[in-house]
Amino acid sequence: MITRRSLLAGSALAVLFGASGSAGAQTGSLPWRNWSGRLLAHPAGRFAPATESELIDWIRSSSGPMRPVGAGHSFTPLVPTDGHLLVLDRMNGLIDHDPATLQASFGAGTRLSSLGPALEAVGQGPLILPDIDRQTLAGAISTGTHGTGLDLHSLSGNVTGLRMVTAAGDALSITEASDPDLFRAACVSVGALGILTEIRLQNRTAYRLKARNWAAPIDEVLENFETSAASHRHFEMFPLTHSDYALVLAIDETDEPIDNPPLSPEEEAAFGEAMRAWMDIPPGDRRPLINGLAEQIEPSVTIDASYRILSNVRSNRFNEMEYAVPREVGAECVREVLDTIARENIDVVFPLEYRYVRGDDLWLSMDEGGDRAAISVHRTADQDYRPLFDAVEPIFWKYGGRPHWGKVHSLGHSELTRLYPKFEAFRAIRAELDPQGRLLNDHLKKLFGV
Ligand SMILES: Cc1cc2nc3c(=O)[nH]c(=O)nc-3n(C[C@H](O)[C@H](O)[C@H](O)COP(=O)(O)OP(=O)(O)OC[C@H]3O[C@@H](n4cnc5c(N)ncnc54)[C@H](O)[C@@H]3O)c2cc1C
Repeated sequence: MITRRSLLAGSALAVLFGASGSAGAQTGSLPWRNWSGRLLAHPAGRFAPATESELIDWIRSSSGPMRPVGAGHSFTPLVPTDGHLLVLDRMNGLIDHDPATLQASFGAGTRLSSLGPALEAVGQGPLILPDIDRQTLAGAISTGTHGTGLDLHSLSGNVTGLRMVTAAGDALSITEASDPDLFRAACVSVGALGILTEIRLQNRTAYRLKARNWAAPIDEVLENFETSAASHRHFEMFPLTHSDYALVLAIDETDEPIDNPPLSPEEEAAFGEAMRAWMDIPPGDRRPLINGLAEQIEPSVTIDASYRILSNVRSNRFNEMEYAVPREVGAECVREVLDTIARENIDVVFPLEYRYVRGDDLWLSMDEGGDRAAISVHRTADQDYRPLFDAVEPIFWKYGGRPHWGKVHSLGHSELTRLYPKFEAFRAIRAELDPQGRLLNDHLKKLFGV
């Protein structure tokens, strides 16, 4: 049986994409690599503080470049440095929580996978999570990491307070009330303002979700997207390139009992066999085969604790480009991306991802100023992503897209200034907090025109 879950599952994709193995273990002070394996750095050393005061002492007694690193799941060179990497892994876990406001504070190095269980133990649940949960909380909010939902902000939009140590070694407690400008700058800051040590999140009561997956014609899903997004807590689609079909995912709250069995070996094997045939033929001839396959996909339903439904596993390495365009032009933009891939015969089999994120007022949030449609294209890590990304990036620009900070893009300071009304204000705060530029690397210099 072929299901959308099996399509996205690790082993089926390994068959489908001939995916590479692991990016390689990193030990001691060996070179650093990001998750996809494309980015490599040779840091002078790593420092992993257990407490904020250890971090302050280290910063005050050291000199030279430094970059905070999370789980290395960004595809852009935000982290690489030949100075020191600051690893917050030891500053993790629930610090405190408030049953009245349903807020909770976590160490900045907390993995997203630990949030759900820790919150559940105190009767809370995360409002949103992204597709996977291996990232650190600080890394995720620093790039504006999001899930989907017409009424749901990115993770950064649910931050209510932060603690941050500046490049001068000063510890700041930041809330909207204490310093609205710094708060709006620090909630999405690509690690350019300081080292986050603690993050407070707005949550809700613990809850259970029911996910339904099926395949449907892309045109039909896009035509009804607004209504579908309004009638489900989460609604998104994964258009299959060189086909007329998309995999569709709708998630809603439920009280029904947990039903979330692991994928059966039969499910995975059936899909793998079908896909092998698909990969053997040129992209231009694939449409009938993929359409036929999509029509066979059995709808599936899973029910579990919210955090187990919201995030999945992506065990095969890839590189990704994602732009957030104004919601009202999202359908037109994703159609043009799909048409371009088909017309230019680009040999990509990885599905796109199309989802809505609620607007916010955070200065460097992709969703600043209004709701956005996030559109992603992927290429397996062992393939050259340039033919695909070079062909689609200008389409995103045409529709006023803003790039995800953690995903491949080619923009620099002048374009970003035009895309973000508060970009210059952010630059001013950055220069004030880090006048020596200890937190800059080559990529950040390009972003901020330093
Ligand atoms: C398989 C996969 C699936 C993904 N799915 C989604 C998705 O559904 N939605 C989405 O929006 N994104 C998604 N992403 C992107 C990912 O969430 C972001 O790139 C995120 O920033 C990665 O977090 P990280 O902990 O790995 O941080 P890193 O990549 O290590 O760092 C990201 C940034 O955070 C900064 N940083 C890290 N720690 C700190 C700190 N303590 N203080 C200050 N700055 C810090 C770094 O300097 C850097 O600028 C996905 C990525 C992958 C690989």
